[in-house]
Amino acid sequence: MFDHIAFPTPYQTLDLPYPVQLTIKRLDLIHPQISGNKFFKLKYNLRAAHQQGYKQVLTFGGAYSNHIAATAYAAQCFGFQSIGIIRGEELASQTLNSTLQTAQNFGMQLHFVSRSEYRLRHEAEYLQQLKQLYPNTLIIPEGGTNELAIQGTKEILSAEDRENYDVICCAVGTGGTIAGIIESSSAQQQVLGFSALKGDFLKSEIQQWTDKQNWSLTDAHCCGGYAKTTPELLQFMQDFEQKYAIPLEQVYTAKMMMGLFDLIRQYHFPTDTRILAIHTGGLQGKLKTY
Ligand SMILES: *Cc1c(COP(=O)(O)O)cnc(C)c1O
Repeated sequence: MFDHIAFPTPYQTLDLPYPVQLTIKRLDLIHPQISGNKFFKLKYNLRAAHQQGYKQVLTFGGAYSNHIAATAYAAQCFGFQSIGIIRGEELASQTLNSTLQTAQNFGMQLHFVSRSEYRLRHEAEYLQQLKQLYPNTLIIPEGGTNELAIQGTKEILSAEDRENYDVICCAVGTGGTIAGIIESSSAQQQVLGFSALKGDFLKSEIQQWTDKQNWSLTDAHCCGGYAKTTPELLQFMQDFEQKYAIPLEQVYTAKMMMGLFDLIRQYHFPTDTRILAIHTGGLQGKLKTY
């Protein structure tokens, strides 16, 4: 399962007018549908679902959740039914956005729930009810972050990545991706997380999964919150794409790259620092602004 997906991942080093080396690891090119970090997060979850004889997977997400789209595709690919519990009952009567349309096209049943019901998504009692309602179903948490996901995201960095770079950067949503990267990083490396949402709570989420200390997290470039954008962000995304011919999307990777470029421009990194930025994919949810 998943073993047929093409490796190795391409790397691209950018030509920058600053004395650092910036290389992008293009996880967005792993696969046209399960691109980026979601592939790593789903890998061991679906393997477990298969081994345990589940017929269906159920998971949670907002309207822009790349995890929802990736789960729908992966479930169909490996012969599972899939259910998505989606935040916002008002969405039921609206035209689906591209993420939700993608999920539905891959056979996912979408259930739109109120924000108050969605808030119960981590509660044992609610999960028990869902299990009764949907027997034979593996429940994967929002964003796909659990122990099996982190087993997968530990495989994002290769042995060469541990040798060849001083700083690893990645976008952060629920923290599962950065947790695996931190766990598999070498002690000399620094891992920088760029949060796609506002608030400090993510630090303790990440600490749940790792005891290591060689990382930090900033929400300085979250543009006001999850899935929010600013004209500056959209302009940065457009300029970056034109200059380097690497597509970004506005929810995660553009925020990371804008944050990283700010640090580089401020000479935050010592001369000759070798930076690896992980392109986590997510391009199916890309906003077309031009
Ligand atoms: C989901 C996602 C992330 C965040 O991953 P977490 O493990 O939830 O932190 C980052 N980038 C992209 C493109 C994503 O789709």
